[in-house]
Amino acid sequence: MKCKCPECDGEITIPKDAVEGEIVTCPDCGLEYELTFDKDGKCNLKTAEVVGEDWGE
Ligand SMILES: [Zn+2]
Repeated sequence: MKCKCPECDGEITIPKDAVEGEIVTCPDCGLEYELTFDKDGKCNLKTAEVVGEDWGE
């Protein structure tokens, strides 16, 4: 399955056995996304909560 990167429109290959919540990385821009599926079974990429933003200190 292929999914489009919301950031750069690049193509991200989703492994067949990927499950919801899996983290996928865009090969083009390197951003990480959490994989979700909509009700049609289409893949949907949600920006992953990445560490390193603000540790509150
Ligand atoms: Zn990308």
